Amino acid sequence: MNEILNVPEIFGSDVFNEATMKQRLAPDVYAAWKHCIQSGSALELTVANHIAEAMKEWATEKGATHYTHWFQPMTGITAEKHDSFISPTGDGRVIMEFSGKELVRGEPDASSFPSGGLRATFEARGYTAWDPTSAAFVKDGSLYIPTCFFSYTGEALDKKTPLLRSIDEVSREAVRILRLFGDTETKRIIPSVGAEQEYFLLPKDLYAQREDLRLTGRTLFGAAPPKGQELDDHYFGTIRTRVSAFMKDLDEQLWRLGILSKTKHNEGAPCQHELAPIYTDANTACDDNQMIMLTMKKCAAKHNLVCLLHEKPFAGISGSGKHNNWSLATDTGKNLFSPGKTPYQNARFLLFLAAFIKGVDEYQDLLRCTVASAGNDHRLGANEAPPAIISIFLGDELNAIVKSIVEGTDYENPEKSNLRIGVDVLPTIRKDTTDRNRTSPLAFTGNKFEFRMLGSSQSVSSPNVVLNTIMAEELGQFADILEQAEDFDSALHDLVCKAFTQHQRIIFDGNGYSEEWKEEAARRGLSNLPSTAECLPTYVSEKNIDLVTRHGIFTENEFKARHAIYLEAYNKVVSIEARTMVDMAIHQILPAAMHYTRDLCQSVSSKQAVGASCRAESSLVRQISQASDALYDAIEALKAALSSVPASAAQASSYYHDAVIPCMTNLRTHADALEMLTDKSYWPYPTYSDLLFY
Ligand code: ADP
Ligand code: MG
Repeated sequence: MNEILNVPEIFGSDVFNEATMKQRLAPDVYAAWKHCIQSGSALELTVANHIAEAMKEWATEKGATHYTHWFQPMTGITAEKHDSFISPTGDGRVIMEFSGKELVRGEPDASSFPSGGLRATFEARGYTAWDPTSAAFVKDGSLYIPTCFFSYTGEALDKKTPLLRSIDEVSREAVRILRLFGDTETKRIIPSVGAEQEYFLLPKDLYAQREDLRLTGRTLFGAAPPKGQELDDHYFGTIRTRVSAFMKDLDEQLWRLGILSKTKHNEGAPCQHELAPIYTDANTACDDNQMIMLTMKKCAAKHNLVCLLHEKPFAGISGSGKHNNWSLATDTGKNLFSPGKTPYQNARFLLFLAAFIKGVDEYQDLLRCTVASAGNDHRLGANEAPPAIISIFLGDELNAIVKSIVEGTDYENPEKSNLRIGVDVLPTIRKDTTDRNRTSPLAFTGNKFEFRMLGSSQSVSSPNVVLNTIMAEELGQFADILEQAEDFDSALHDLVCKAFTQHQRIIFDGNGYSEEWKEEAARRGLSNLPSTAECLPTYVSEKNIDLVTRHGIFTENEFKARHAIYLEAYNKVVSIEARTMVDMAIHQILPAAMHYTRDLCQSVSSKQAVGASCRAESSLVRQISQASDALYDAIEALKAALSSVPASAAQASSYYHDAVIPCMTNLRTHADALEMLTDKSYWPYPTYSDLLFY
């Protein structure tokens, strides 16, 4: 029997959300919490005590025995340590207790997380602090409390703290602008984010047979299957029963956690799928995306599947990304990237657009760095994801408007008078539905920007931190000018016109996958940083340090720590992949080829004894022997490359990119050639056909 799921009833049922708080907290406690959320002020301990008590009551009713401070260390994934609510009464019994202090602050002693040098071992403790703006929830018998993670000296050790800082910062500067437009009501601006998540699902038993998948999350070997994704028969295709059962289960779990899972479909590659949620505020969206990734992994296991979030699980088949839809909205729900219906709204829209264009142009390298990782290097610029060059797609209508402002002509009739910002009404800017231009890294899609360079496994925090911060920077610059202007309208017009004119080079609507664009982008002076190794040095440029410190997003130390961690992560990933390749090649691939040739040789001698022809066997033996020799040499070459990695992390990253990765590619070529020659029953792991067309 199929039980019917009452979605509105279960939605958010495992979340200590505002409705639950209102119901469970005394009115004055609820009011105090609400005030703290709205004003960003600290919560008094007495209030925290009441909230903790109510949370514990609610959570234990839901079967929770533990609580955990859930945090987002700089590994990009989340961490948790569970403490039970038990408290001894002294007579051999326990009661369930949870104090305000325990809610507000934790000390996970998580000294093994990367700190990029922010913590010396003697002060290695990390602390967690409750983020009351993101709701607590119950999962697997624990009360999860979203928290920030920081060091003894107060430096941020996580992905959440800078995001919260950037949200405050863009809010502050954007409110200044709104005041200039006569808006006296809006108190806060909230960045909104909707992150579309791509992923692969594989049968667990096949996955378990491949060391590369288990250790690195992707296949390091594998000859191309006779069929790939060329028929486009998977994209939006009927979802297989097993996957559909997984998706149904996943949705239910996410809905219980109050996550707005909306769309599910098959993606382009075989075994690839996508989940898109309805957008929400950036902080919640970032938490939710982490929970989506976690839940996908757990839920897949339940269905005897494995969820791969790696950016490039299979060579020759599209990898997985994450589309980060981003916009700014007022606390009353007005989207600031919606072109309006009045000249006033249009002027405001154009000002925000100008700030965005200017910010992205000035900080293209920084934005690029936020999506740099060893995994994502396989996708960007490989004709399956946007190029590594940042540009903005505006669409025909918006382009015409920008052009008319730059050239001082009317957008419909270039012969006619100028478009005056703040006076003229713009045409309705429709969503560009004809050509979605999937090749653009950053596309305006009607009322938001879609940043399409993110890797599927990465936290959405860093890209949003940068989007928020560059907006804060540019809006702040604009506000400085406009607040002093004698004639607001003409100052506004000049500002917008100047920004569009000076930063036109970042606007590009053509084919981002083409070679011509690379040349054109170089002529325009846009930065093209194809790999992580090439890109990370630009991260800590003086201009970027200046930006993030001036806005209080990072201290210089915090920012440099991130740089160190990204470098280290890149080096470690490539090193693990390389060593896994050597391991598999020596212990699995080479022996498989040898066993097969041994048996072939035996067959040759037995056949020769009876005078039978053995042309096929002999020829195969020769080919496989040659290929095995080549494989052996490639293993030795990779081992040699790995034995002389420079000690400095920065030099090592270039070395991995320039010296190690080519050896890995070479080794793979020979292994895959051997796979093509070898009897399948000898081959040590499931092939691409086995994995992708199970
Ligand atoms: P499109 O058809 O342009 O892709 P959708 O409405 O399907 O637009 O939205 C795609 C994603 O963008 C969804 O995850 C959605 O929640 C998100 N999104 C829509 N509007 C906004 C917004 N104002 N801010 C952030 N994300 C948004
Ligand atoms: Mg999309």
